[in-house]
This record gives sequence, structure tokens and C-alpha cells, in this order.
Amino acid sequence: MTTITSEFVPAELDGARWESLAPLYKTLCDRELACSGCLEQLLLDRSVLDATASEAQTNLYVRMTCHTDDKQAKSAYLRFVEAVEPHLKQVGFELDRKIVGSPHGADLDGPRYAVLLRDLAADVELFREQNIPLQTEDTKLDQQYEETCGAMTVDFEGAERTLPQMSKYLEQTDRATREAAWRGVAERRFADHEKLDTIFDRMVELRTQMARNAGFDDYRGYMFKRYHRFDYTPADCEDFHRAAEQVCVPVLRRLNAERKDALGIDPLRPWDLAVDPMGREPLQPFEGTDDLVAKTSRLFHRMDPSLGAMFDTLRTGDCLDLETRKGKAPGGYQAHRDRSLRPFIFMNAAGVHRDLDTMVHEAGHAFHSILCHHEPLLHYRNSPIEFAEVASMTMELFGFPYLDEFYDEAEAMRARRKRLEELATMLPWIATIDAFQHWIYTNPEHTHDERAAYWLQLSDRFGSAVSWDGLAKYHEVSWQRQGHLYGVPFYYIEYGIAQLGALQMWLQYKKDPAKAIANYKNALALGGSRPLPELFAAAELDFSFGPPTMRRLMDEVQNELDTLPI
Ligand SMILES: [Zn+2]
Repeated sequence: MTTITSEFVPAELDGARWESLAPLYKTLCDRELACSGCLEQLLLDRSVLDATASEAQTNLYVRMTCHTDDKQAKSAYLRFVEAVEPHLKQVGFELDRKIVGSPHGADLDGPRYAVLLRDLAADVELFREQNIPLQTEDTKLDQQYEETCGAMTVDFEGAERTLPQMSKYLEQTDRATREAAWRGVAERRFADHEKLDTIFDRMVELRTQMARNAGFDDYRGYMFKRYHRFDYTPADCEDFHRAAEQVCVPVLRRLNAERKDALGIDPLRPWDLAVDPMGREPLQPFEGTDDLVAKTSRLFHRMDPSLGAMFDTLRTGDCLDLETRKGKAPGGYQAHRDRSLRPFIFMNAAGVHRDLDTMVHEAGHAFHSILCHHEPLLHYRNSPIEFAEVASMTMELFGFPYLDEFYDEAEAMRARRKRLEELATMLPWIATIDAFQHWIYTNPEHTHDERAAYWLQLSDRFGSAVSWDGLAKYHEVSWQRQGHLYGVPFYYIEYGIAQLGALQMWLQYKKDPAKAIANYKNALALGGSRPLPELFAAAELDFSFGPPTMRRLMDEVQNELDTLPI
């Protein structure tokens, strides 16, 4: 085990209690910064202390999500959120200000500290006392959104079902069942559409006010800075939208047409998109999580022995909780224990194809964490999402040749096709959500009718070739199901940028696997220590998301799709 040792922070310090953290943070805040060496030492000591608190929070979060029926686990996590986190935020801001204000920052090794100082300076610049209550109200509104959506159920086939439970009916081969399920969900969402509109209106108002308080014309400019988007602009995002429209949408609609023909229906309707077009049973890649882990290990060993070995380190100790069971939170994630330097992968494996994608994806995040263990600064052990998701999405594509660990050849082809089809659907959807937010926050005074009209316009521009005939009222408010618009505004384009990086990695891999693996590992090892374009360059990837890059990549996707039967 590689736990970070530090003279400043004892290994046994309890990072879950503010009383144990507070004296050390106070020492840091009071420390005299007489020279650049002192500033550097402050950065290092702070890093270990932050990592100690972060690991405590991660452990509490992991325990809670693994045991949602354990009241004590939940209250311990909430205690941290309520009694420790606000102190950490406050003292964190104080330290940021101290570091940014130090004249010795200019004497530090420029390239080494440039990203860190740039990020901290932006955070300090954006901070406004008067925005704190606005932020709190915004968070509460998101809780209302979550509660409203979480409470939605549909009576279907003799039982009350949650909306996530309803999604499996959209995969049924019986079309009437799919239509009834789709309409049931749409009608249930529609019943709350006014409430969700009102919540969103207030959020737009609050967010616009926060931006103006901080001296910005609109919330878009404010959020670009808050997300540390120093290396691309709204105009670059518009370039991505154009690329999705010109290059991906034709591929998407071609796939829709093939699906329509395979299903023998006309026109395609919104409830026809998830069913297997050939009416086959779902893929079954493994039986039980031991089988999943063993097969995934072989996949990585064949891809690259050192990645295989890295994956195997996760098999010992408490690094994996994979199988679905009662009392476990939904979804999947990779979390990193920042002090003891151990990744953790959480998921709900039930034996379906998606579980295999999730396993390989989260393993990519774990490789990223492990490859950054040499980095002393916590801030640099995490990279921006635009690159972090390159690490994970790349593994899904590099895994293509080794799917025979899970499937026979026909099934493996079906799995590859599924992944590429998802990608052709995802990129235009990302453009839709991103373009919608750009419009929302640069036109904050819009009416509901204008909002609906703009949404439908985007759907024409980027959507699937399905007929919404007679479904207009559902279509107009269908943006309300995208929780990111409520909870994490402007956060979404990151996945598009990362996907373009991952596709470029895949093209490299097809040409020269050894070189591609080396590029992948070199770039991941930089963590977040370099600006985004340099992280991309370290893996020999273009950091550009306009039509030429998109065309080069989608041509390859289309070529591959041509070799894979429907
Ligand atoms: Zn991810």
C-alpha cells in the first residue's frame, strides 16, 4: 500500500471530524509565507490535508451507497456534509485567497504551477458573499426537481412501477406494449410539467443574478470560468454543434432508416428506438461478478499486460463492489481514496451487456487514478472531465477485439454495433442539450412558448428520424427529463469533447496498438497538471471539435458499422 506519508498530517488523523482537521487547517492559514519555498511547502501540506478529508468523505459515501438500508451509514455521511463540508469550503476559500495573493507565486516554477494558480485565481475572482444564499436556493430547487421526478410512478401491467423500471418495457418486441409504456411515462411526466417549468424558471433567474453579481453579462460566461474552461469558448461549442449536425445526424438518421426497415414499420415512433431490431434475446456476457472480473482481467491482459496487472490490483482489498443487491444505491462510479491511494469501483452488475461496458469504463477511470499516484499535488491527481472521460471511454473502444472473452463472434459483432450506434445517438443529443443551455442563458427573459419552440427547433436539427405526430405536447417538454439542465447547468459538452478524444485514440489503436497504449498511459500520467490541449497533445490527439475532426472520426465509425450486421 502506498499511503502518502507526511510530517504535517499524521497517518492516523481522523479526516471525518472537523475537530481533528481544524487545528491543522488553522496552522496553514496562519503560516507566514516568507519565500517561494514556503508557498510550495504550503501547497504540499495542504494537499495531504485535503486528501485526508477527501478520503474520509469518500469512505463515508462508499459505505452509504453500498448499504442504503443502514441508517447509521447514511447519518454518518450526512453528518460530514452538514458539519464538516461547510468548514472545508470556507477554509478552502481562505487558503485559495492566501495562495493567489502571495507575491511569491510569481517565483514558483511557471509550467509546474501554472494550471493550479490559474484555477485558484478564477475561483477567488468569482467568489461573492451575496451569491451564497442564491446558491443555496438553487441547490434546494434541484432537490425539489429530484423529489418530483423520483416520486413519479406509472400503473402498468398490474403494478405501480417507477420510471427506471418502465424502461425495460421499451425493449419488448411487442410494439403495442412499448407504445403503452412510452405513453404511460410521457403522460406521467406531463402531469408535472408546469411544476418543473416553474422550478426551472426560478433557477434561470437565480443563476442570471449570480452571474451579474460577479460582474458577468450572462450565466454562460460565468459558468465557463467557474468550470475552468480556459481552453475553449462558446464559439468552439457552436463548432461542435455544427459538426454534430453536419456529420453525425446523417449517420444517426441512416441508422434510424435501417432500424425502421428491419422492424418492418413506417414511420418509426419514439417507442421504437430501444428494442432489438431483429427481435433477439438480450446479450448475456457473464454469470455472476466473479465471472465478470475474471473475463475483464483477461481482456485487459490481452490489451496490455501492464493494464492487466493494474486491473488485478483492484481484485484484492476493498476496491470493488460490483453485484447488484437489495439495499445498494443505483448506478455505477469510480471513486478514489486520496490519502491511501486506492481506487474503488461501484456498480450494479446484473449480467447484462451494459454491465460489461460499465466495468471496462470505470476500470479506465481507475487506471487514470493509479497512473497519477506519483503526483504530490491533489489538484493534479484529478484531470478535467473533458480528459478524464477520454481515459474511460477509450477503454470501451480498445476492448472491441477482446469481446470474444464474453461472446461468440456473432454476439461480439452485435455488441460492437450497439456501442457505435449509441455513440452516433449520443453526440447529437449532447449538441442538443448544450445548444439549448447556450440559448436559455443568453436569453434569460424568454417565455415558455419561446422555450418550447426553440427546443422543437433543436429536435429538428439534431433529433432521430421519428414521427412525433400527435405527441407534440410531450415533445415540447421532453427536455425536462435531462436532470443535468437542473442540477449541473452547462455540464454535458464535456462528454462530447471526451468522446472525440476517445475515438481518435481508437483510430490510433487500430493502426498501431503499442503506440496507442503508450500514448494513453503517458497522457493519463499527467493527471490535471497541464492545460487541456496539452493533455490531448500528450496522447497525440487533436483538441478540436469542429466538422473536419468529426468527419474523420465518423467516417471510421461508419466504415466499422458497414462491417457489422444489424
Ligand atoms: Zn466516466
